[in-house]
Amino acid sequence: MSSDRLVIAIDGPSGSGKSTTSKGVAKTLGLAYLDTGAMYRAIACAYLDAGVDPSDTQAVIAATLGAKLEISTDPEVEKVVVNGVEVTERIRQPEISAKVSAVSTIAECRQDLVARQRAIIEGAASGIIAEGRDITTVVAPDADVRILLTADPEIRMARRKVDLGGAIDSAQLADQVLRRDRDDSKLVNFTTAADGVTGLDCSDLTLAETIAAVLDLVAATR
Ligand code: C5P
Repeated sequence: MSSDRLVIAIDGPSGSGKSTTSKGVAKTLGLAYLDTGAMYRAIACAYLDAGVDPSDTQAVIAATLGAKLEISTDPEVEKVVVNGVEVTERIRQPEISAKVSAVSTIAECRQDLVARQRAIIEGAASGIIAEGRDITTVVAPDADVRILLTADPEIRMARRKVDLGGAIDSAQLADQVLRRDRDDSKLVNFTTAADGVTGLDCSDLTLAETIAAVLDLVAATR
């Protein structure tokens, strides 16, 4: 990566605070922001709307490859559109969290989304922070700063509950965090930091402290 265009990659399990932290860092540094999880979620909307059964691998692949996907990379503007339909709110619903692994556990779907993500990262003229599960290892292994953001499972479940305004029972919460981590780990490793990736455990950090820790890591590379 060129030294005048900063690319930051952040991975971590669900509820670790990747999105809020990344948005805060993007706003502070004037970078674009890419939520790759939102792309997987949007594809889940696309296959469900096409009436595809999640167990029909070929049909999920076809729905993925055929999906027209637009995503805002402005950290101030959340907007996701798939096949002409805005799904910004819908992708956060528990129904989508429950169905998204059908996309992310298929290698062909991942390849397609990784290519789209690389194109967005390459197109970000003044730099970008991208977050997900495989950004540090697959999507942008040559990023200037690579971080694995983790937190204890109980803390991640508590944070996810707050994100959802408390409107979730404990079985749904465990499904959204623990079951999803298990499924998501099938094709991607986001539990241990790969070579050159800095682990950052934010279990005992506030959001402001986590953002500050990321900014320190960025400053150390400049
Ligand atoms: O980060 P978020 O929870 O919104 O991600 C939604 C889902 O998208 C994850 O559970 C995972 O299945 C998938 N995902 C992925 N690789 C990424 C980002 C998200 O497999 N880089």
